[in-house]
Amino acid sequence: GVTIAVQDLRFTYGPTTEELFDGLTHSFAPGRITALTGPSGRGKSTLLYVLGLMLTPTSGRVIIDGESASDLKDHRRSRLRAHRLGFIFQDSELDAERAILDSVIEPGLYAGGSPRDLRERAYDLLATFGLHHRATHRPGQISGGQAQRVAVCRALVNEPSIVLADEPTGNLDPDNSSLVIDALRHAAEQGRTILIATHDPAVVERADEVLSL
Ligand code: ADP
Ligand code: ADP
Repeated sequence: GVTIAVQDLRFTYGPTTEELFDGLTHSFAPGRITALTGPSGRGKSTLLYVLGLMLTPTSGRVIIDGESASDLKDHRRSRLRAHRLGFIFQDSELDAERAILDSVIEPGLYAGGSPRDLRERAYDLLATFGLHHRATHRPGQISGGQAQRVAVCRALVNEPSIVLADEPTGNLDPDNSSLVIDALRHAAEQGRTILIATHDPAVVERADEVLSL
């Protein structure tokens, strides 16, 4: 498994906005789910973007697998992101025109995977989360809870070491929320490092660790 860590982290969006993270140093271990909590505006989403190498720290570093990832050149950072990281957002916004299977394999195509292998992996993932029969459906034909499990499959298709999820259960009822947590739990058991920014007590309860900002 791969550890992702931050060291002396500070971030500001601009000269007039408040500084976030107060020099945070923290290490997120493989095989564990960490819930990121704290009041709105404390920087939970921003921390996921910084860890996801989409925003560069104002000072301090992001370390992935012992390497100072935030200091890499753009193309190496993009490659690291495509191969090591998976993202899940609150509303998965699947492409309405596309079959679910095609949405799941899309990040794999970006990362240069073979369509045939990806299709097989995507079917396996959908099957794991009880969605095998939905592969050829469009997003309009499935429920919000199902769409969010599809988003989990999409985040896992490149077999990322690290999964970053922003309020993945924010719009779900408790049953669907629980299925999404099960899916992330399963991903953790495979040795992945899982971070979930959340207000959902059900997520906090089932996390291995809670980091409050
Ligand atoms: P949280 O996820 O904990 O609610 P965010 O990471 O969304 O917090 O936001 C942290 C702070 O940064 C907030 O004060 C927010 O208003 C500000 N912020 C978020 N995105 C931007 C942006 N693109 N430009 C300027 N400020 C932003
Ligand atoms: P699940 O618990 O399987 O995620 P739900 O109990 O929410 O799904 O919904 C049961 C079925 O009703 C779904 O399989 C889906 O086909 C249909 N359905 C539910 N919500 C919607 C929706 N917003 N749009 C279209 N179909 C929906």
